Amino acid sequence: MSSYDVIIIGAGPGGYVCAIRCAQLGLKVACIEGRETLGGTCLNVGCIPSKAMLHASHQYHEASHNFAAIGLIGDPPKIDFTRMQEFKAGVVEANTKGIEFLFKKNKVDWIKGWASITGKGRVTVGDTEYSAKNIVIATGSEPSVLPGVPVDEEVIVTSTGALALKAIPKSMVVIGAGVIGLELGSVYARLGAEVTVLEYLDQITPGMDLEICKTFQRTLKKQGLKFVLGAAVQSAERTDGGAKVTYKLKKDDSEAGLEADVVLVATGRRPYLEGLGLEGVGVSLTDRGQIATKDWKTSVEGIWAIGDATPGPMLAHKAEDEGMAVAEAMAGQHGHVNYGIIPGVIYTNPEIASVGRTEEQLKADGKAYKVGKFNFMANGRAKASQSGEGFVKLLADAETDRILGCHIMGPAAGELIHEVCVAMEFGASAEDLARTCHAHPTYSEAMREAALACGDGAIHA
Ligand code: NAD
Repeated sequence: MSSYDVIIIGAGPGGYVCAIRCAQLGLKVACIEGRETLGGTCLNVGCIPSKAMLHASHQYHEASHNFAAIGLIGDPPKIDFTRMQEFKAGVVEANTKGIEFLFKKNKVDWIKGWASITGKGRVTVGDTEYSAKNIVIATGSEPSVLPGVPVDEEVIVTSTGALALKAIPKSMVVIGAGVIGLELGSVYARLGAEVTVLEYLDQITPGMDLEICKTFQRTLKKQGLKFVLGAAVQSAERTDGGAKVTYKLKKDDSEAGLEADVVLVATGRRPYLEGLGLEGVGVSLTDRGQIATKDWKTSVEGIWAIGDATPGPMLAHKAEDEGMAVAEAMAGQHGHVNYGIIPGVIYTNPEIASVGRTEEQLKADGKAYKVGKFNFMANGRAKASQSGEGFVKLLADAETDRILGCHIMGPAAGELIHEVCVAMEFGASAEDLARTCHAHPTYSEAMREAALACGDGAIHA
């Protein structure tokens, strides 16, 4: 029987990062993955392919709608959807092969197949048993579908099916105005589909800074997305031409229906724990079906868990951080994740990014805070690149000036946010950011101006 210091189950961003870090720390490590390729949901059917589609559809939109305004005259490009899908597949392949290379380079054994834990320190794949001092569960999540909405991944699809459609639908109903619904909804809206988003709550992107939510929704509406808020989807069924969704409006309990070529179900994800044998070995779950953990330890000694299978935001980078931290903990070091500083990004155009507390949370905390806001309209670089929509909002402690949170809608928001993450990790004040020289002309200057606005005032406002 092959034996290891660590066996990791799952090769998504949590699992593969953990495996590489274990190897770097001198541990003998294997990573078990059932998919044909490494990288998990993120690389195969999530973040990476959706970003390829976002990029392609954005380029198309720019060429069709914005080129003429900057003096680039010509016929709008035509869409070859098959070629676009091939481009996406190529991006996925390059990334998954990259992990394969990193496994070889770091001497991580990739065991192919679906694992189950058969006892303390024992893992079985098919007929083969492996032993390990430590087991890390990094099995991720799967779409949580709605009762009455039968997914077939052709007409009624999850994000997986939406990324592999054979043709661009003329119309699409998206159930859920969360991250997946809005990212993929905007991809297909840009490619020409008429997109209607049905959302149970009275706002989009629940949990996000309210001012951002409202501005973001206005922007998406301008881009052609339609929204029905306060709509609880009851069921969906296939029709001759596509599918029909039935929903109830919360305000008056009335029922309505909507037909579309494709229905995307984007109502959240749930931990993927099938076939792991957790009950047999006594690993406890939370009441929401996640693996209960404390410092990434499960209720069973020697079994650890990270990523989407455990509580916390279902984000690849949260899983990666946990992967590194748990490797360090198993190697006798002090693993650490700062759960207060995990950025969130929505990859639409403009992008949305946030970190730390929202205004609503600070109010609920009873914390006195200052707001420094700066509009991209007043940022030279944004004006020059036709991307003046949105703003940076920096929140700082009213007494100490320490940065408490930041919320951005605008160009490269997903990049800009990391300046604030680093500042927050170092306990910086808004003045620290404001006194840091920022190159001109850059989008980052909007961040500095927001920091200045927390003090004596922004210069260009
Ligand atoms: P989500 O939780 O972000 O949003 C789901 C939405 O569906 C919610 O707004 C909810 O109110 C709504 N909803 C639920 N039931 C409904 C019903 N019956 N009728 C109408 N609306 C209903 O979930 P998601 O967008 O599916 O994403 C899943 C997970 O993947 C999230 O944790 C997300 O953070 C993560 N993810 C992140 C990124 C990123 O970071 N860019 C990208 C993709 C996915």
